[in-house]
Amino acid sequence: MKLGFYAVLGKRDYLNLNNKKVGIWELTEYQPTGWLCSLFIKPEVIPQNCPIIHDCGAFGYRDQDYPTINSQYVDAQWAANRYRERSREGDTVVAPDNLLLGNINWRRQYNLEQAQIFIRIAQEKLPDRKPLATIHGLSIQEKIEYGIKLYQLGYKRLGIGGLAQQASHYSTNLYIIKAIIQAIHSFEKTVHFHVFGLCSPQYAKAFFEMGISFDGSTHARETFSSNTLLFNNGENLLRYPIHQAPKCSCRVCAIASGTAKSAIAFDGALPIAQGAVPFGNIAQRLGTRIARKHNINSQLIENRTSSIIRLAHNLNSLLRTYHHIKKPETLYLVAGCGKQSKQRTAAKDVYCSHHFQVCRQYAEAQGKWYILSPLHKVLKPEQVISPYDKSPNSLSLKERQLWAQQVASHIMETTNPNVEIIFLTGKLYRQQVIPILQTHNYTTRTPMEGLGIGQQIKWLLNQLSTPKQLALKL
Ligand SMILES: [Zn+2]
Repeated sequence: MKLGFYAVLGKRDYLNLNNKKVGIWELTEYQPTGWLCSLFIKPEVIPQNCPIIHDCGAFGYRDQDYPTINSQYVDAQWAANRYRERSREGDTVVAPDNLLLGNINWRRQYNLEQAQIFIRIAQEKLPDRKPLATIHGLSIQEKIEYGIKLYQLGYKRLGIGGLAQQASHYSTNLYIIKAIIQAIHSFEKTVHFHVFGLCSPQYAKAFFEMGISFDGSTHARETFSSNTLLFNNGENLLRYPIHQAPKCSCRVCAIASGTAKSAIAFDGALPIAQGAVPFGNIAQRLGTRIARKHNINSQLIENRTSSIIRLAHNLNSLLRTYHHIKKPETLYLVAGCGKQSKQRTAAKDVYCSHHFQVCRQYAEAQGKWYILSPLHKVLKPEQVISPYDKSPNSLSLKERQLWAQQVASHIMETTNPNVEIIFLTGKLYRQQVIPILQTHNYTTRTPMEGLGIGQQIKWLLNQLSTPKQLALKL
């Protein structure tokens, strides 16, 4: 199971644009490790091509006498059938459980029985999925004993639940989590642990260090309950009431304000704004415009559309905070394109367009960077080359595929998978390279995706001039 943060997916975490559901992950610059999707979620809105933890969503039926979802009694057999319909190879599937509230003894018995039945069904009927059972208990002792029982039943993945209600008790929670892990690791070192419902930056930092996965819905809570906008300042997550929020130029807000030509077919449904404008206005204008176009009650759509954009922005801020906490090593890739100098010189000086030179300035400020060239594949900036005449457009599809394979192989030979690969390049320089890297477990990011050349230059200069960026470098 992949380590890191799994964002909790809500039932309606998508925009309806041009009859297409656009998931919030299509709007954000940063991506979570994966998503936690409960059985309350419709299968068709579950993200594709990333790790998913499927669970019963015990929090959703915590107050019911008997656990039900859509009037169906939740038990191991029913859950396994639902998981079989919606999960893919490699996904994690969670044994049905119940929080220890109300009729605690009945719930204890229910949890153990379902875990016993579920592992048998999962091994027989869901052999490519990874079963996980959740540890509950009122005391540390009970949690440890129950965790050992689950391990003995055959679970290699254990969840630690029931701590979210006391999230503010950071030290206590961490003590409990460490005690459980230590006790079970004394039996078997390879058991994977996942903590349910704790995801503040403080917890995230501890979990990254401990090498365990975790999930949370802070982005949703801040959006729908507190009505706040999240921003990040290095490792700190900042909360602003909407009307006091600063201007934002994150990818979500750029798309919403119409300053980004998104890869998604927004088809003119978005207003065109000059530069970044205050966030509340964008969402409102966006909502009104869509409402007018589709002849829908504008109040209704304004609220929903602006909420979803705020949700995506908040998730992006949370993920950016984690990114600062993890501080992954990075490798920036810049496209060697445009006008070239007439002399044989270092690659970084051969390409002399304004666009290349701004990309270079930004990449140099971040650390390690390479240049991608249709002729030379991957160049170190200092490597001396002669000017040449070859652009990606001059390559056939087959030649471009070969080129992408050679570029990806070069990167993989020189860079380990913990290094995040960031593309400051156009589509032709990345679209066939990224899938190869991703299948080899590399994380990639394309911060300027969807921006035109002029907008890219503006974005780069903006990043170079903001104090946040300076703070990042320290
Ligand atoms: Zn934003």
